[in-house]
Amino acid sequence: MKKRYKTIFLDRDGTLNFDPGYISNVKNFKFYNFTFDALKLFNSAGSNFCIITNQSGIARGIIKPNELDQINDFIKNSFKKNKLNLLDIYYCPDHPDNPSKFRKPNTGMFEMAIKDHGFEIKSSLMIGDNFCDIIAGNRLGIDTMLVLTGKGKEVNNSKKIKPTFVAKNILVGAKSVLGIK
Ligand SMILES: [Mg+2]
Repeated sequence: MKKRYKTIFLDRDGTLNFDPGYISNVKNFKFYNFTFDALKLFNSAGSNFCIITNQSGIARGIIKPNELDQINDFIKNSFKKNKLNLLDIYYCPDHPDNPSKFRKPNTGMFEMAIKDHGFEIKSSLMIGDNFCDIIAGNRLGIDTMLVLTGKGKEVNNSKKIKPTFVAKNILVGAKSVLGIK
């Protein structure tokens, strides 16, 4: 299988980094050791990236906005160091009990990204480890990849969703999409 995507929407926790729950300090933010290898493969196939993340820890009062800003700066610097084109990071602070159109699986953050950066949704892929990531991708009519890191195994076992791709992790997924052995 060989597919190329112009824009890759990335979930954050459980997809790019370990998900201990409500990360409020940059010291507790750790990328998986395969994340940048995966993103470099996608990048060499011409993909840009956009992170789309639900961060209800803000509405819950567990994460302060300035703490999340520090984490976002760390992520942006890490992408820069790896020469990867990160268009933006969008986060939704909403509590799941009172979600706006921006909280995944709603598509508000994606629509904002498309408006801000003027790309075509058609040639996009959404990668995530949870129901909301795949459902959002389905609503947008784009390809989706469920990674079996984070909550992915549990989500996959439920058989409630039908992602375009299911992969052990984002690196295995990247190789499979790009036809690399
Ligand atoms: Mg996640």
